Amino acid sequence: MTDLPRTRPTGVKAPHGAQDLEISWADGHRSKLSHEVLRGYCPCAGCQGHSGIIQFQEGGNTVLRNLEQVGNYALGLTWGDGHDSGIYSFRYLRALGDLLDAQGVEAVKALGTLPRI
Ligand SMILES: [Zn+2]
Repeated sequence: MTDLPRTRPTGVKAPHGAQDLEISWADGHRSKLSHEVLRGYCPCAGCQGHSGIIQFQEGGNTVLRNLEQVGNYALGLTWGDGHDSGIYSFRYLRALGDLLDAQGVEAVKALGTLPRI
């Protein structure tokens, strides 16, 4: 839970058929989050167990079927194969967005692990 502008979304766009989720933040920044990266780094216990790091999981369905806000701190994403247990905190989404801005999709996938924040 946070009120910091950099982790407060002001808009979320997920056009049908797009490969990226776009989030506008209260500090004016906009993040483009590749579906492939979001699915691979799904933070849920089913994908990650209970370890302290998040490991990239290849091969998941990357069609974003639905998204909904969870409380006032996160988005819940539902994928084309029905996987819907990933709760992505705004802090996590902003950190992932900043990483993608700095390194690009392929490099972020190649990292293989992310800290759990
Ligand atoms: Zn998952």
